[in-house]
Amino acid sequence: MEERPFSDISYEQFLEEERLMGSRCKTCGAFFVPPRPLCIRCHGTDMVWVETEGRGKLSAFTCIAVGPPFMIAEGYDRKHPYVSGVVELDEGGRVDARIEGVDPNNPEGIKLGMRMKAKFLHRKDMDIPETYLAFEPSK
Ligand SMILES: [Zn+2]
Repeated sequence: MEERPFSDISYEQFLEEERLMGSRCKTCGAFFVPPRPLCIRCHGTDMVWVETEGRGKLSAFTCIAVGPPFMIAEGYDRKHPYVSGVVELDEGGRVDARIEGVDPNNPEGIKLGMRMKAKFLHRKDMDIPETYLAFEPSK
C-alpha cells in the first residue's frame, strides 16, 4: 500500500497528514508505533504499513512540571504542568504521546484504561511545520 520506509521520518510525514501509522510484522503479527523496520519479537523484516483508527486506552501517564524546552516555550511550567502518557492502541501497538483534555493538577481524575482518541497538533518550529501526536479522552 505504502512505499515509504519504516522510519521516524515517514511516521512524522504521516502525522503531518493526520494519519497515525505503524508497522506490523507479517511473520508474527507484532505491531509497532512508531514503525520499526525490524521486528523486536521475532527479528523478522517483512513489515507492512497499517493505518490505525487512532483509538485506544490509556495504559500509563505522568504529570510533567518541568518539560523539554519546546514545552516550556508553549507555556508549560511548574504552575502549568502537562500530562504525558502511553496509549495502547486498539490495533495492538503502544504509543507515547501528550495527553490533553485531562487535568494534570488532579491526577486522581485521570483513569488508567480510559478511552482515548488521537488528535494532531500542528505548529511551526523555526518556520518548519511540525505535527505532534496527542490523545484526548473519548466516549
Ligand atoms: Zn515478528
